[in-house]
Amino acid sequence: MAQECIFCKIINGDIPATLLYEDDDILAFNDISPQAPTHMLVIPRKHITGPDALTEADQALIGKLVKLGTDLAAKAGLTDGFRLVMNNGESAGQTVFHLHMHVLGGRAMTWPPG
Ligand code: AMP
Ligand code: ZN
Repeated sequence: MAQECIFCKIINGDIPATLLYEDDDILAFNDISPQAPTHMLVIPRKHITGPDALTEADQALIGKLVKLGTDLAAKAGLTDGFRLVMNNGESAGQTVFHLHMHVLGGRAMTWPPG
């Protein structure tokens, strides 16, 4: 738990979120500022600052994160496609330094991303 981390506060229940899933390792909730009709976030309970802070010991955890993201996309009916995104570092657009995976869908996406 990092004191000033907004996602740790969600995990602790100090800040409300629309929870979509939780277990001992991970949770998922709706993004507060959706960039697509469906925009969910999947995070580990463990405070990891971002993808570049992952260790070999986190490999099962990250696999679980991706699997949950795809399951939630299916549950949300995103049969036409969806996008899983992890921003690493400020220049990539990371604003919250607690590892999270975006699950976006419900509209056509462009490539390359902005
Ligand atoms: P990133 O820019 O990749 O670090 O993504 C951080 C995401 O967290 C953004 O899409 C924000 O809209 C989202 N976010 C920030 N605060 C909250 C919150 N309290 N509840 C839900 N999502 C949040
Ligand atoms: Zn945190």
